[in-house]
Amino acid sequence: MNKFEALGLQKSLLDAVADMGFETPSEVQEKAIPILLETETDLVALAQTGTGKTAAFGFPLIQKIDSNSRTTQGLILSPTRELCLQITKEIQAYSKYERNINTVAIYGGASITEQARQIKRGAQIIVATPGRMKDMISRRLVDISKIDYCILDEADEMLNMGFFEDIKDILSNTPNEKSTWLFSATMPKEVAIIAKKFMHSPQEITVGTKNAGTSTVQHEYYVVGGRDRYPALKRLADTNPDIFSVIFCRTKRDTQKVAEKLIEDGYNAGALHGDLSQNQRDLVMNSFRKKQIQMLVATDVAARGIDVDDITHVINYQLPDEIETYTHRSGRTGRAGKSGISMVIVTRSELRKIKSIENKIQQKFIPKTIPTGMEICEIQLYHLANKIKDTKINEDVEHYLPAINDVLQGIDREELIKKIVSVEFTRFFNYYNKSKDLNTSSDSRNRSGDRDYSNRGDAPSSGSVRYFINVGEKDGYDWMSLKDFIRDTVGLSQDDLFKVDVKDSFSFFNTDAAVTDKILSTFTDLKVDGRFVNVEVSKNPGGGGGRRDRKRSGGGGGRDRSKGSRDKSKRRERSFSKSENSGKRRSKRRQSDFF
Ligand code: ADP
Ligand code: MG
Repeated sequence: MNKFEALGLQKSLLDAVADMGFETPSEVQEKAIPILLETETDLVALAQTGTGKTAAFGFPLIQKIDSNSRTTQGLILSPTRELCLQITKEIQAYSKYERNINTVAIYGGASITEQARQIKRGAQIIVATPGRMKDMISRRLVDISKIDYCILDEADEMLNMGFFEDIKDILSNTPNEKSTWLFSATMPKEVAIIAKKFMHSPQEITVGTKNAGTSTVQHEYYVVGGRDRYPALKRLADTNPDIFSVIFCRTKRDTQKVAEKLIEDGYNAGALHGDLSQNQRDLVMNSFRKKQIQMLVATDVAARGIDVDDITHVINYQLPDEIETYTHRSGRTGRAGKSGISMVIVTRSELRKIKSIENKIQQKFIPKTIPTGMEICEIQLYHLANKIKDTKINEDVEHYLPAINDVLQGIDREELIKKIVSVEFTRFFNYYNKSKDLNTSSDSRNRSGDRDYSNRGDAPSSGSVRYFINVGEKDGYDWMSLKDFIRDTVGLSQDDLFKVDVKDSFSFFNTDAAVTDKILSTFTDLKVDGRFVNVEVSKNPGGGGGRRDRKRSGGGGGRDRSKGSRDKSKRRERSFSKSENSGKRRSKRRQSDFF
Protein backbone atom coordinates (compact mmCIF):
# COMPACT_ATOMS: atom_id res chain seq x y z
CA MET A 1 0.00 0.00 0.00
CA ASN A 2 1.29 3.38 -0.95
CA LYS A 3 2.04 5.72 1.91
CA PHE A 4 -0.64 8.19 0.92
CA GLU A 5 -3.18 5.41 0.74
CA ALA A 6 -2.22 4.47 4.29
CA LEU A 7 -3.26 7.93 5.38
CA GLY A 8 -6.77 7.17 4.21
CA LEU A 9 -6.95 9.08 0.93
CA GLN A 10 -9.47 7.97 -1.68
CA LYS A 11 -8.53 6.65 -5.12
CA SER A 12 -9.17 9.85 -7.05
CA LEU A 13 -6.84 11.75 -4.76
CA LEU A 14 -4.19 9.06 -4.95
CA ASP A 15 -4.25 9.36 -8.72
CA ALA A 16 -3.76 13.09 -8.43
CA VAL A 17 -0.92 12.53 -5.96
CA ALA A 18 0.73 10.23 -8.47
CA ASP A 19 0.33 12.82 -11.19
CA MET A 20 1.91 15.44 -8.96
CA GLY A 21 4.86 13.14 -8.43
CA PHE A 22 4.54 13.07 -4.64
CA GLU A 23 6.03 9.86 -3.31
CA THR A 24 6.01 10.16 0.43
CA PRO A 25 3.85 12.39 2.58
CA SER A 26 5.64 15.17 4.39
CA GLU A 27 5.61 15.14 8.17
CA VAL A 28 2.80 17.66 8.52
CA GLN A 29 0.75 15.69 5.97
CA GLU A 30 1.42 12.45 7.77
CA LYS A 31 0.24 13.95 11.04
CA ALA A 32 -2.66 16.11 9.87
CA ILE A 33 -4.36 14.09 7.15
CA PRO A 34 -5.52 11.09 9.25
CA ILE A 35 -6.78 13.34 12.05
CA LEU A 36 -8.72 15.55 9.66
CA LEU A 37 -10.14 12.63 7.68
CA GLU A 38 -11.25 10.60 10.66
CA THR A 39 -12.60 13.21 13.00
CA GLU A 40 -14.51 16.42 12.95
CA THR A 41 -12.13 18.55 14.94
CA ASP A 42 -10.48 21.92 15.16
CA LEU A 43 -6.78 21.78 14.52
CA VAL A 44 -3.73 23.95 15.04
CA ALA A 45 -0.78 22.86 12.91
CA LEU A 46 2.58 24.52 13.21
CA ALA A 47 5.01 23.81 10.41
CA GLN A 48 7.56 25.88 8.56
CA THR A 49 7.15 27.21 5.07
CA GLY A 50 7.61 24.66 2.32
CA THR A 51 6.58 21.67 4.38
CA GLY A 52 3.51 20.87 2.28
CA LYS A 53 0.79 22.42 4.38
CA THR A 54 -1.49 23.04 1.39
CA ALA A 55 -1.87 19.32 0.76
CA ALA A 56 -2.15 18.66 4.50
CA PHE A 57 -5.45 20.52 4.58
CA GLY A 58 -6.26 20.29 0.85
CA PHE A 59 -6.56 16.51 0.59
CA PRO A 60 -8.86 16.04 3.60
CA LEU A 61 -10.93 19.04 2.57
CA ILE A 62 -11.50 17.70 -0.94
CA GLN A 63 -12.31 14.25 0.34
CA LYS A 64 -14.85 15.62 2.79
CA ILE A 65 -16.63 17.95 0.40
CA ASP A 66 -20.00 16.82 -0.87
CA SER A 67 -19.63 17.24 -4.61
CA ASN A 68 -23.33 16.65 -5.19
CA SER A 69 -24.08 19.90 -3.50
CA ARG A 70 -23.09 23.20 -5.02
CA THR A 71 -23.15 24.97 -1.67
CA THR A 72 -19.92 26.55 -0.50
CA GLN A 73 -18.55 24.14 2.08
CA GLY A 74 -14.94 25.09 2.55
CA LEU A 75 -13.30 28.48 2.99
CA ILE A 76 -9.55 28.96 2.93
CA LEU A 77 -8.21 32.33 4.04
CA SER A 78 -4.70 33.26 3.04
CA PRO A 79 -2.74 36.50 3.41
CA THR A 80 -1.83 37.56 -0.13
CA ARG A 81 -3.14 37.39 -3.63
CA GLU A 82 -0.07 35.38 -4.71
CA LEU A 83 -0.65 32.75 -2.06
CA CYS A 84 -4.34 32.73 -2.76
CA LEU A 85 -3.73 31.94 -6.42
CA GLN A 86 -1.08 29.38 -5.55
CA ILE A 87 -3.37 27.51 -3.17
CA THR A 88 -6.21 27.60 -5.68
CA LYS A 89 -3.96 26.07 -8.33
CA GLU A 90 -2.79 23.35 -5.94
CA ILE A 91 -6.32 22.49 -4.84
CA GLN A 92 -7.46 22.37 -8.44
CA ALA A 93 -4.61 20.00 -9.27
CA TYR A 94 -5.40 17.77 -6.30
CA SER A 95 -9.06 17.64 -7.25
CA LYS A 96 -8.62 17.06 -10.95
CA TYR A 97 -10.16 13.59 -10.79
CA GLU A 98 -13.10 14.65 -8.64
CA ARG A 99 -16.26 15.27 -10.51
CA ASN A 100 -17.91 18.61 -9.92
CA ILE A 101 -15.63 20.15 -7.40
CA ASN A 102 -15.14 23.82 -8.07
CA THR A 103 -12.53 25.94 -6.38
CA VAL A 104 -12.67 29.70 -6.83
CA ALA A 105 -10.10 32.32 -5.86
CA ILE A 106 -11.18 35.62 -4.40
CA TYR A 107 -8.66 38.40 -4.01
CA GLY A 108 -8.29 42.13 -4.42
CA GLY A 109 -7.03 43.88 -7.49
CA ALA A 110 -9.22 41.94 -9.90
CA SER A 111 -12.79 42.30 -11.06
CA ILE A 112 -15.17 41.63 -8.22
CA THR A 113 -18.09 41.05 -10.61
CA GLU A 114 -16.16 38.35 -12.43
CA GLN A 115 -15.34 36.67 -9.13
CA ALA A 116 -18.98 36.94 -8.05
CA ARG A 117 -20.00 35.31 -11.32
CA GLN A 118 -17.68 32.36 -10.71
CA ILE A 119 -19.07 31.93 -7.21
CA LYS A 120 -22.58 32.03 -8.53
CA ARG A 121 -21.84 29.11 -10.80
CA GLY A 122 -21.18 27.08 -7.67
CA ALA A 123 -17.98 26.96 -5.66
CA GLN A 124 -17.70 24.31 -2.99
CA ILE A 125 -14.29 25.68 -2.06
CA ILE A 126 -13.36 29.34 -1.87
CA VAL A 127 -9.80 30.51 -1.42
CA ALA A 128 -9.75 34.14 -0.38
CA THR A 129 -7.75 37.03 0.96
CA PRO A 130 -9.48 38.49 4.02
CA GLY A 131 -9.97 41.99 2.59
CA ARG A 132 -11.79 40.95 -0.56
CA MET A 133 -13.72 38.25 1.27
CA LYS A 134 -15.08 40.75 3.73
CA ASP A 135 -16.00 43.06 0.90
CA MET A 136 -17.90 40.33 -0.93
CA ILE A 137 -19.73 39.28 2.21
CA SER A 138 -20.91 42.80 2.86
CA ARG A 139 -22.10 43.08 -0.72
CA ARG A 140 -23.85 39.74 -0.39
CA LEU A 141 -21.95 38.34 -3.32
CA VAL A 142 -20.98 35.25 -1.40
CA ASP A 143 -22.63 33.08 1.20
CA ILE A 144 -20.47 31.29 3.75
CA SER A 145 -23.22 30.66 6.25
CA LYS A 146 -23.21 26.94 5.52
CA ILE A 147 -19.54 26.10 5.43
CA ASP A 148 -18.29 23.03 7.25
CA TYR A 149 -14.59 23.83 7.12
CA CYS A 150 -12.70 27.05 7.58
CA ILE A 151 -8.96 27.04 7.05
CA LEU A 152 -6.71 29.84 8.21
CA ASP A 153 -3.54 29.39 6.22
CA GLU A 154 -0.38 31.26 7.14
CA ALA A 155 -2.25 32.61 10.12
CA ASP A 156 0.82 34.38 11.49
CA GLU A 157 1.31 36.25 8.23
CA MET A 158 -2.34 37.25 8.05
CA LEU A 159 -2.21 38.69 11.52
CA ASN A 160 1.10 40.35 10.75
CA MET A 161 -0.60 42.13 7.91
CA GLY A 162 -3.29 43.44 10.19
CA PHE A 163 -6.15 41.17 9.17
CA PHE A 164 -7.32 40.37 12.68
CA GLU A 165 -10.51 42.42 12.48
CA ASP A 166 -11.32 41.17 9.00
CA ILE A 167 -10.88 37.57 10.05
CA LYS A 168 -13.07 38.14 13.07
CA ASP A 169 -15.69 39.66 10.82
CA ILE A 170 -15.56 36.85 8.31
CA LEU A 171 -15.76 34.18 10.99
CA SER A 172 -18.83 35.84 12.46
CA ASN A 173 -20.55 35.06 9.16
CA THR A 174 -19.80 31.35 9.42
CA PRO A 175 -21.79 28.77 11.35
CA ASN A 176 -20.73 27.74 14.85
CA GLU A 177 -20.72 24.04 14.14
CA LYS A 178 -17.90 24.00 11.61
CA SER A 179 -14.33 22.80 11.93
CA THR A 180 -11.54 25.36 11.91
CA TRP A 181 -8.07 24.35 10.84
CA LEU A 182 -5.30 26.81 11.51
CA PHE A 183 -1.94 26.45 9.77
CA SER A 184 0.96 28.64 10.68
CA ALA A 185 4.75 28.69 10.62
CA THR A 186 5.01 30.38 13.99
CA MET A 187 2.80 30.78 17.01
CA PRO A 188 3.00 34.38 18.15
CA LYS A 189 0.61 35.70 20.75
CA GLU A 190 -1.86 36.92 18.13
CA VAL A 191 -2.25 33.45 16.64
CA ALA A 192 -2.77 31.97 20.09
CA ILE A 193 -5.52 34.51 20.66
CA ILE A 194 -7.27 33.52 17.44
CA ALA A 195 -6.99 29.86 18.37
CA LYS A 196 -8.40 30.53 21.79
CA LYS A 197 -11.20 32.79 20.64
CA PHE A 198 -12.46 30.99 17.59
CA MET A 199 -11.60 27.36 18.06
CA HIS A 200 -12.96 24.61 20.27
CA SER A 201 -10.34 22.49 22.03
CA PRO A 202 -8.24 22.16 18.90
CA GLN A 203 -5.87 19.26 18.44
CA GLU A 204 -2.33 20.44 18.00
CA ILE A 205 0.45 19.21 15.83
CA THR A 206 3.93 20.63 15.59
CA VAL A 207 6.42 19.70 12.95
CA GLY A 208 10.16 20.16 13.26
CA THR A 209 12.10 21.42 16.20
CA LYS A 210 10.00 22.43 19.10
CA ASN A 211 12.92 23.22 21.33
CA ALA A 212 11.03 25.68 23.46
CA GLY A 213 14.08 27.39 24.95
CA THR A 214 15.74 28.93 21.96
CA SER A 215 13.07 28.70 19.34
CA THR A 216 11.73 32.15 20.04
CA VAL A 217 14.09 33.06 17.20
CA GLN A 218 13.35 31.83 13.72
CA HIS A 219 16.37 31.66 11.42
CA GLU A 220 15.95 32.36 7.72
CA TYR A 221 18.30 32.74 4.82
CA TYR A 222 17.93 34.40 1.43
CA VAL A 223 20.24 33.55 -1.46
CA VAL A 224 21.03 36.49 -3.73
CA GLY A 225 23.76 37.55 -6.12
CA GLY A 226 26.71 39.35 -4.56
CA ARG A 227 25.70 42.67 -5.98
CA ASP A 228 22.10 42.37 -4.86
CA ARG A 229 22.73 42.48 -1.12
CA TYR A 230 21.58 46.03 -0.75
CA PRO A 231 18.41 45.82 -2.89
CA ALA A 232 17.61 42.59 -1.04
CA LEU A 233 17.97 44.37 2.29
CA LYS A 234 15.59 47.05 1.11
CA ARG A 235 13.00 44.50 0.10
CA LEU A 236 13.22 42.75 3.43
CA ALA A 237 12.63 46.09 5.12
CA ASP A 238 9.76 46.97 2.79
CA THR A 239 8.13 43.61 3.44
CA ASN A 240 8.12 44.37 7.15
CA PRO A 241 6.86 47.94 7.45
CA ASP A 242 6.98 47.86 11.25
CA ILE A 243 10.47 46.45 11.35
CA PHE A 244 12.60 47.35 14.35
CA SER A 245 15.92 45.83 13.61
CA VAL A 246 19.64 45.56 13.92
CA ILE A 247 21.51 45.02 10.67
CA PHE A 248 24.97 43.55 11.01
CA CYS A 249 27.82 44.28 8.64
CA ARG A 250 31.33 42.97 8.83
CA THR A 251 33.34 46.19 8.69
CA LYS A 252 32.94 49.69 9.99
CA ARG A 253 33.11 50.94 6.46
CA ASP A 254 30.26 48.74 5.23
CA THR A 255 28.27 49.61 8.32
CA GLN A 256 28.58 53.31 7.60
CA LYS A 257 27.86 52.83 3.89
CA VAL A 258 24.77 50.72 4.34
CA ALA A 259 23.36 53.13 6.92
CA GLU A 260 24.06 56.10 4.67
CA LYS A 261 22.38 54.43 1.72
CA LEU A 262 19.34 53.52 3.76
CA ILE A 263 19.02 57.07 5.02
CA GLU A 264 19.42 58.37 1.49
CA ASP A 265 16.66 56.02 0.38
CA GLY A 266 14.31 57.37 3.02
CA TYR A 267 14.54 54.80 5.80
CA ASN A 268 14.84 55.64 9.48
CA ALA A 269 18.31 54.21 9.79
CA GLY A 270 21.42 54.90 11.81
CA ALA A 271 24.97 53.60 12.05
CA LEU A 272 26.70 52.29 15.15
CA HIS A 273 30.40 51.51 14.96
CA GLY A 274 33.69 52.21 16.62
CA ASP A 275 34.66 55.15 14.46
CA LEU A 276 31.92 57.24 16.03
CA SER A 277 32.58 59.24 19.16
CA GLN A 278 30.98 58.09 22.39
CA ASN A 279 28.66 61.04 22.14
CA GLN A 280 27.55 60.12 18.63
CA ARG A 281 26.99 56.55 19.69
CA ASP A 282 24.85 57.65 22.62
CA LEU A 283 22.75 59.78 20.32
CA VAL A 284 22.18 56.90 17.92
CA MET A 285 21.30 54.50 20.72
CA ASN A 286 18.86 56.96 22.23
CA SER A 287 17.07 57.39 18.92
CA PHE A 288 16.99 53.64 18.52
CA ARG A 289 15.48 53.11 21.96
CA LYS A 290 12.84 55.68 21.16
CA LYS A 291 12.25 53.87 17.86
CA GLN A 292 13.04 56.97 15.87
CA ILE A 293 15.56 54.69 14.23
CA GLN A 294 13.95 51.52 12.84
CA MET A 295 17.05 50.04 11.30
CA LEU A 296 20.25 50.22 13.27
CA VAL A 297 23.24 49.20 11.17
CA ALA A 298 25.99 48.01 13.46
CA THR A 299 29.29 46.23 13.71
CA ASP A 300 29.50 43.25 16.02
CA VAL A 301 31.70 45.02 18.50
CA ALA A 302 29.56 48.14 18.70
CA ALA A 303 26.34 46.14 19.03
CA ARG A 304 27.53 44.29 22.09
CA GLY A 305 25.92 46.68 24.49
CA ILE A 306 22.51 46.79 22.84
CA ASP A 307 19.96 46.03 25.52
CA VAL A 308 16.73 46.71 23.66
CA ASP A 309 14.02 44.13 24.18
CA ASP A 310 11.57 44.34 21.34
CA ILE A 311 13.81 44.02 18.28
CA THR A 312 11.72 42.23 15.67
CA HIS A 313 14.44 41.32 13.18
CA VAL A 314 18.15 40.80 13.10
CA ILE A 315 19.48 41.02 9.58
CA ASN A 316 22.86 39.61 8.72
CA TYR A 317 23.82 41.79 5.77
CA GLN A 318 26.97 39.74 5.65
CA LEU A 319 27.71 36.63 7.66
CA PRO A 320 30.27 37.03 10.41
CA ASP A 321 33.67 35.36 10.12
CA GLU A 322 33.20 33.50 13.39
CA ILE A 323 30.23 31.21 13.83
CA GLU A 324 29.95 32.15 17.51
CA THR A 325 29.34 35.72 16.45
CA TYR A 326 26.14 34.62 14.72
CA THR A 327 24.74 33.45 18.04
CA HIS A 328 25.41 36.86 19.57
CA ARG A 329 23.78 38.59 16.64
CA SER A 330 20.61 36.52 16.55
CA GLY A 331 20.35 36.77 20.33
CA ARG A 332 19.53 40.46 19.92
CA THR A 333 16.00 39.44 18.97
CA GLY A 334 13.51 37.06 20.54
CA ARG A 335 14.19 38.49 23.97
CA ALA A 336 11.93 38.75 26.97
CA GLY A 337 9.62 36.03 25.73
CA LYS A 338 8.98 37.74 22.42
CA SER A 339 9.49 36.01 19.12
CA GLY A 340 12.02 37.28 16.62
CA ILE A 341 13.48 36.55 13.23
CA SER A 342 17.11 36.36 12.28
CA MET A 343 17.60 36.79 8.54
CA VAL A 344 20.77 36.09 6.63
CA ILE A 345 21.51 37.45 3.18
CA VAL A 346 23.92 35.03 1.54
CA THR A 347 25.45 34.33 -1.80
CA ARG A 348 25.49 30.80 -3.12
CA SER A 349 29.13 30.33 -2.24
CA GLU A 350 28.40 31.10 1.40
CA LEU A 351 25.72 28.46 1.75
CA ARG A 352 28.04 25.97 3.41
CA LYS A 353 28.45 28.47 6.25
CA ILE A 354 24.74 28.14 6.93
CA LYS A 355 25.27 24.43 7.54
CA SER A 356 28.00 25.09 10.09
CA ILE A 357 25.80 27.60 11.87
CA GLU A 358 22.93 25.13 11.96
CA ASN A 359 25.21 22.64 13.64
CA LYS A 360 26.36 25.20 16.12
CA ILE A 361 22.96 26.56 17.10
CA GLN A 362 21.20 23.21 16.80
CA GLN A 363 18.43 24.78 14.81
CA LYS A 364 17.48 24.62 11.16
CA PHE A 365 17.40 27.62 8.89
CA ILE A 366 14.39 28.17 6.68
CA PRO A 367 15.29 28.90 3.08
CA LYS A 368 13.23 31.90 2.01
CA THR A 369 12.87 33.89 -1.15
CA ILE A 370 13.14 37.65 -1.40
CA PRO A 371 9.60 38.86 -2.09
CA THR A 372 8.83 40.12 -5.56
CA GLY A 373 8.18 43.80 -6.09
CA MET A 374 4.46 43.20 -6.50
CA GLU A 375 4.23 41.20 -3.29
CA ILE A 376 5.82 44.11 -1.49
CA CYS A 377 3.37 46.55 -3.06
CA GLU A 378 0.52 44.40 -1.83
CA ILE A 379 1.87 44.20 1.69
CA GLN A 380 2.49 47.93 1.79
CA LEU A 381 -0.99 48.62 0.55
CA TYR A 382 -2.64 46.61 3.31
CA HIS A 383 -0.32 48.09 5.84
CA LEU A 384 -1.30 51.56 4.74
CA ALA A 385 -5.01 50.79 4.77
CA ASN A 386 -4.69 49.45 8.28
CA LYS A 387 -2.66 52.41 9.37
CA ILE A 388 -5.35 54.76 8.13
CA LYS A 389 -7.97 52.71 9.91
CA ASP A 390 -6.05 52.67 13.19
CA THR A 391 -4.99 56.29 13.15
CA LYS A 392 -6.39 58.20 16.07
CA ILE A 393 -8.18 61.28 14.83
CA ASN A 394 -6.50 64.50 15.79
CA GLU A 395 -9.39 66.70 16.86
CA ASP A 396 -7.46 69.82 15.99
CA VAL A 397 -8.08 68.93 12.37
CA GLU A 398 -11.65 70.06 12.93
CA HIS A 399 -10.72 73.68 12.59
CA TYR A 400 -9.38 73.17 9.08
CA LEU A 401 -12.15 70.90 7.88
CA PRO A 402 -14.21 73.48 6.04
CA ALA A 403 -11.21 74.50 3.99
CA ILE A 404 -10.18 70.88 3.40
CA ASN A 405 -13.73 70.00 2.38
CA ASP A 406 -13.61 72.85 -0.06
CA VAL A 407 -10.50 71.47 -1.68
CA LEU A 408 -11.81 67.91 -1.80
CA GLN A 409 -15.29 68.87 -2.90
CA GLY A 410 -16.86 66.63 -5.51
CA ILE A 411 -14.59 63.67 -4.86
CA ASP A 412 -16.63 60.67 -3.77
CA ARG A 413 -15.60 58.21 -1.08
CA GLU A 414 -14.25 55.57 -3.41
CA GLU A 415 -12.17 58.02 -5.36
CA LEU A 416 -10.94 59.64 -2.17
CA ILE A 417 -9.76 56.31 -0.82
CA LYS A 418 -7.99 55.57 -4.05
CA LYS A 419 -6.26 58.90 -3.89
CA ILE A 420 -5.21 58.60 -0.25
CA VAL A 421 -3.81 55.16 -0.78
CA SER A 422 -2.08 56.19 -3.99
CA VAL A 423 -0.08 58.82 -2.13
CA GLU A 424 2.03 56.07 -0.60
CA PHE A 425 1.39 53.21 -2.93
CA THR A 426 2.59 54.92 -6.07
CA ARG A 427 6.01 55.41 -4.52
CA PHE A 428 6.42 51.69 -3.99
CA PHE A 429 4.74 50.79 -7.21
CA ASN A 430 7.00 52.98 -9.29
CA TYR A 431 10.03 51.63 -7.55
CA TYR A 432 9.08 47.99 -7.79
CA ASN A 433 7.11 47.94 -10.99
CA LYS A 434 8.88 45.54 -13.35
CA SER A 435 11.61 44.99 -10.78
CA LYS A 436 13.54 41.80 -11.13
CA ASP A 437 13.54 38.68 -9.06
CA LEU A 438 16.53 38.84 -6.73
CA ASN A 439 16.62 35.18 -5.84
CA THR A 440 19.34 33.07 -7.32
CA SER A 441 17.73 29.68 -6.96
CA SER A 442 17.64 27.82 -10.26
CA ASP A 443 13.89 28.08 -10.19
CA SER A 444 13.70 31.83 -10.00
CA ARG A 445 16.44 32.23 -12.50
CA ASN A 446 14.32 30.58 -15.11
CA ARG A 447 11.50 32.86 -14.26
CA SER A 448 13.44 36.00 -14.93
CA GLY A 449 16.53 35.72 -16.96
CA ASP A 450 16.34 39.40 -17.67
CA ARG A 451 17.91 41.79 -15.30
CA ASP A 452 16.15 44.89 -14.28
CA TYR A 453 18.38 47.85 -14.09
CA SER A 454 15.83 50.52 -13.45
CA ASN A 455 16.20 50.14 -9.71
CA ARG A 456 19.84 50.77 -9.76
CA GLY A 457 19.62 53.72 -12.05
CA ASP A 458 21.87 52.19 -14.63
CA ALA A 459 21.34 50.74 -18.04
CA PRO A 460 21.78 47.27 -19.44
CA SER A 461 25.39 46.52 -19.99
CA SER A 462 26.81 47.17 -23.37
CA GLY A 463 30.26 45.93 -22.69
CA SER A 464 32.93 47.06 -20.34
CA VAL A 465 34.68 50.38 -20.01
CA ARG A 466 38.24 50.93 -18.90
CA TYR A 467 39.18 53.91 -16.78
CA PHE A 468 42.26 55.75 -15.74
CA ILE A 469 42.59 56.92 -12.14
CA ASN A 470 45.34 59.16 -10.84
CA VAL A 471 46.32 57.14 -7.79
CA GLY A 472 48.61 54.18 -7.60
CA GLU A 473 51.21 52.32 -5.60
CA LYS A 474 52.82 55.54 -4.47
CA ASP A 475 49.62 56.37 -2.68
CA GLY A 476 49.78 53.12 -0.80
CA TYR A 477 47.43 51.03 -2.96
CA ASP A 478 47.56 47.55 -4.26
CA TRP A 479 44.86 46.17 -6.53
CA MET A 480 42.75 44.93 -3.66
CA SER A 481 42.75 48.10 -1.62
CA LEU A 482 42.17 50.23 -4.70
CA LYS A 483 39.24 48.06 -5.66
CA ASP A 484 37.80 48.55 -2.18
CA PHE A 485 38.36 52.29 -2.32
CA ILE A 486 36.63 52.72 -5.68
CA ARG A 487 33.87 50.35 -4.79
CA ASP A 488 33.09 52.11 -1.54
CA THR A 489 33.45 55.62 -2.90
CA VAL A 490 31.14 55.01 -5.84
CA GLY A 491 28.89 52.58 -4.04
CA LEU A 492 29.45 49.59 -6.28
CA SER A 493 29.50 45.97 -5.36
CA GLN A 494 32.56 43.82 -5.45
CA ASP A 495 31.69 42.24 -8.78
CA ASP A 496 31.15 45.53 -10.55
CA LEU A 497 34.87 46.21 -10.75
CA PHE A 498 37.40 44.13 -12.56
CA LYS A 499 40.83 44.21 -14.18
CA VAL A 500 42.20 46.58 -11.57
CA ASP A 501 45.74 47.34 -12.63
CA VAL A 502 47.77 49.37 -10.17
CA LYS A 503 50.78 51.19 -11.49
CA ASP A 504 53.28 53.31 -9.68
CA SER A 505 51.44 56.60 -9.64
CA PHE A 506 48.22 55.82 -11.46
CA SER A 507 46.00 52.84 -12.17
CA PHE A 508 43.41 51.40 -14.49
CA PHE A 509 40.24 49.52 -13.87
CA ASN A 510 37.18 48.26 -15.72
CA THR A 511 33.47 48.37 -15.05
CA ASP A 512 30.34 47.50 -16.87
CA ALA A 513 29.39 50.31 -19.26
CA ALA A 514 26.17 50.56 -17.27
CA VAL A 515 27.87 52.26 -14.34
CA THR A 516 30.08 54.66 -16.28
CA ASP A 517 27.93 57.68 -15.52
CA LYS A 518 27.97 56.85 -11.85
CA ILE A 519 31.76 56.50 -11.83
CA LEU A 520 32.37 59.73 -13.69
CA SER A 521 29.94 61.76 -11.67
CA THR A 522 31.36 60.46 -8.38
CA PHE A 523 34.82 61.45 -9.39
CA THR A 524 33.88 64.94 -10.50
CA ASP A 525 35.53 67.33 -8.11
CA LEU A 526 36.11 64.58 -5.62
CA LYS A 527 38.74 65.77 -3.24
CA VAL A 528 40.30 63.32 -0.86
CA ASP A 529 42.56 64.58 1.88
CA GLY A 530 42.93 67.84 0.11
CA ARG A 531 43.72 66.23 -3.20
CA PHE A 532 41.64 65.70 -6.29
CA VAL A 533 41.13 62.16 -7.40
CA ASN A 534 40.50 62.10 -11.06
CA VAL A 535 38.97 59.35 -13.17
CA GLU A 536 38.65 59.40 -16.92
CA VAL A 537 37.54 56.88 -19.48
CA SER A 538 40.70 55.31 -20.77
CA LYS A 539 41.52 55.76 -24.38
CA ASN A 540 42.92 52.31 -24.25
CA PRO A 541 39.77 50.28 -23.74
CA GLY A 542 41.46 46.96 -24.37
CA GLY A 543 42.74 46.90 -20.86
CA GLY A 544 45.80 44.99 -21.85
CA GLY A 545 49.41 46.03 -21.72
CA GLY A 546 51.12 48.38 -24.08
CA ARG A 547 50.84 51.46 -21.96
CA ARG A 548 53.83 53.54 -21.36
CA ASP A 549 54.17 53.66 -17.66
CA ARG A 550 55.74 57.06 -17.62
CA LYS A 551 56.39 58.32 -14.18
CA ARG A 552 55.82 61.87 -13.32
CA SER A 553 59.03 63.46 -12.35
CA GLY A 554 59.05 65.44 -9.16
CA GLY A 555 55.39 65.17 -8.49
CA GLY A 556 55.23 68.35 -6.46
CA GLY A 557 53.75 71.61 -7.51
CA GLY A 558 50.35 73.12 -7.51
CA ARG A 559 47.18 71.31 -8.28
CA ASP A 560 44.98 72.04 -11.17
CA ARG A 561 44.09 75.65 -10.53
CA SER A 562 40.92 75.79 -12.50
CA LYS A 563 39.47 73.01 -10.37
CA GLY A 564 41.06 74.19 -7.17
CA SER A 565 39.33 77.50 -7.37
CA ARG A 566 35.90 76.07 -7.87
CA ASP A 567 33.10 76.55 -5.46
CA LYS A 568 34.08 74.66 -2.35
CA SER A 569 30.60 73.51 -1.56
CA LYS A 570 30.52 71.42 -4.69
CA ARG A 571 33.34 69.27 -3.48
CA ARG A 572 32.99 66.23 -1.40
CA GLU A 573 35.60 65.64 1.19
CA ARG A 574 36.41 62.12 2.16
CA SER A 575 38.92 60.65 4.46
CA PHE A 576 41.62 59.03 2.51
CA SER A 577 43.67 57.02 4.88
CA LYS A 578 45.52 55.18 2.18
CA SER A 579 47.17 58.35 0.98
CA GLU A 580 48.34 59.40 4.36
CA ASN A 581 51.56 57.51 4.07
CA SER A 582 52.33 59.03 0.73
CA GLY A 583 52.78 62.36 2.44
CA LYS A 584 53.45 64.59 -0.46
CA ARG A 585 50.78 66.24 -2.48
CA ARG A 586 51.12 65.58 -6.12
CA SER A 587 49.64 67.54 -8.92
CA LYS A 588 46.56 66.24 -10.53
CA ARG A 589 47.69 63.71 -13.03
CA ARG A 590 45.67 63.40 -16.15
CA GLN A 591 45.46 60.65 -18.62
CA SER A 592 46.67 62.95 -21.32
CA ASP A 593 49.91 63.17 -19.42
CA PHE A 594 50.52 59.57 -20.28
CA PHE A 595 49.21 59.03 -23.77
P1 ADP B 1 3.74 25.28 2.72
O1 ADP B 1 2.31 25.73 2.57
O2 ADP B 1 3.95 24.45 3.93
O3 ADP B 1 4.70 26.41 2.62
P2 ADP B 1 3.26 24.04 0.18
O4 ADP B 1 2.00 23.37 0.51
O5 ADP B 1 3.17 25.30 -0.60
O6 ADP B 1 4.10 24.30 1.50
O7 ADP B 1 4.21 23.00 -0.55
C1 ADP B 1 5.48 23.34 -1.01
C2 ADP B 1 5.81 22.52 -2.26
O8 ADP B 1 5.99 21.16 -1.95
C3 ADP B 1 4.72 22.59 -3.31
O9 ADP B 1 5.32 22.78 -4.56
C4 ADP B 1 4.06 21.24 -3.23
O10 ADP B 1 3.52 20.86 -4.48
C5 ADP B 1 5.17 20.33 -2.79
N1 ADP B 1 4.76 19.18 -2.01
C6 ADP B 1 3.82 19.13 -1.07
N2 ADP B 1 3.71 17.91 -0.55
C7 ADP B 1 4.62 17.14 -1.15
C8 ADP B 1 5.01 15.75 -1.05
N3 ADP B 1 4.43 14.94 -0.19
N4 ADP B 1 5.98 15.30 -1.85
C9 ADP B 1 6.60 16.14 -2.73
N5 ADP B 1 6.28 17.44 -2.88
C10 ADP B 1 5.30 17.94 -2.10
MG1 MG C 1 1.38 27.46 2.43
